[in-house]
Amino acid sequence: MMHKNQPTKIRENVPLAPLTTFGTGGPARFFLSAETIKDVQEGLIFADRKRLAVFILGGGSNVVVSDNGFPGLVLQIVPKGIRCEADADSIRLSVAAGEVWDDIVAYAVERDWWGIENLTAIPGNCGAVAIQNVGAYGQEAADVIEAVTVLDRKDGDIKTLSAEECQFAYRESIFNRSAKDRYIIWETHFRLSRKGQAHTGYPDVRSYLQERQITHPTPREMRTAISAIRARKFADPATIGTAGSFFKNIYISEAQFLDLAKKVASISPPEVLDKLQRVRERFSSESGIKIPTAFLIDQVCGLKGHRIGGAQVSPTQALAIINPEKRATGTEVQQLIKHVQTVVREKTGLEIELEPALVGFS
Ligand SMILES: Cc1cc2nc3c(=O)[nH]c(=O)nc-3n(C[C@H](O)[C@H](O)[C@H](O)COP(=O)(O)OP(=O)(O)OC[C@H]3O[C@@H](n4cnc5c(N)ncnc54)[C@H](O)[C@@H]3O)c2cc1C
Repeated sequence: MMHKNQPTKIRENVPLAPLTTFGTGGPARFFLSAETIKDVQEGLIFADRKRLAVFILGGGSNVVVSDNGFPGLVLQIVPKGIRCEADADSIRLSVAAGEVWDDIVAYAVERDWWGIENLTAIPGNCGAVAIQNVGAYGQEAADVIEAVTVLDRKDGDIKTLSAEECQFAYRESIFNRSAKDRYIIWETHFRLSRKGQAHTGYPDVRSYLQERQITHPTPREMRTAISAIRARKFADPATIGTAGSFFKNIYISEAQFLDLAKKVASISPPEVLDKLQRVRERFSSESGIKIPTAFLIDQVCGLKGHRIGGAQVSPTQALAIINPEKRATGTEVQQLIKHVQTVVREKTGLEIELEPALVGFS
């Protein structure tokens, strides 16, 4: 049944599980696939009138939906389009939010443009790339994002925010921190280079290139390398329910590190403590010592492969919770998230933060 003032494009009780790579959860009470700014505006007015919560959906690769679904309006942002402005050294690539991110990486790499080749095979759409400043294998979106064009839900205006205004940090920006839920990203402007230097620092990347005697990789060779490495490591969303990493890595101070080392020494075999010391040598920077959360979940807490019902800590990548048989309920996922966070807190004293958005959970 159509509601009063309901834009015709709005559909009701739309199942969300098929729109996410994790594959759980119930329907959206209302759903609008927004191709134009006018669609977005109409959707927001409708939600406002009916006092509905709004959830913005992209490609659904970093969300987990509750069993009851979402009681408000899910607004999926789907506009398409690419614009390029080139000069002698660089290219400004402006990409609409509904473009598939990996298609854009392919587009750039085919033209030998540098800047996003290591971000190959990250699922999802362009609109979400700035949200958590996606990153992989030594590159992150913030390295190349020049500006982001948004619809500001506060005043309804279209604005272009500079990279500085976006306040990018590790898996962070204003979009998932201080201005969470305020902006709808419509277009992202990237600055790519004609000349570049491959990021080959990660051990997996280095050994892949060495085995093939590639000393000066091109963007295309980097894309091939990263695709092959990721295919070995990450679950394929086509066959297994996955939302990628569930937990963020942690940055800690020297004092926290000493405390952690003491705790690890008291509960783990000496080789785990040795590995932790090597982590400090490898991952110390100005922001602190980066502790790979997968190391804590797997080596310190022994949770790799742990299951609650249909939800499982991935046996190959401890940072991920997966839905291997596509039968996990949202409740089981939530219970497993809590279990992992609790065990890590009890054994290490550290809080680990969730990466995907939980939709419709209380
Ligand atoms: C197998 C796998 C591997 C992954 N590997 C990586 C990786 O290496 N590095 C990494 O950083 N991430 C990784 N991810 C996570 C995910 O791919 C990224 O977070 C991606 O950018 C999400 O895009 P999406 O379009 O699917 O967003 P969605 O999952 O639809 O949404 C994610 C968040 O962004 C918000 N959002 C989406 N679009 C918009 C918009 N236009 N305006 C405002 N808000 C919006 C949503 O509300 C939500 O909070 C991986 C995921 C999977 C499944």
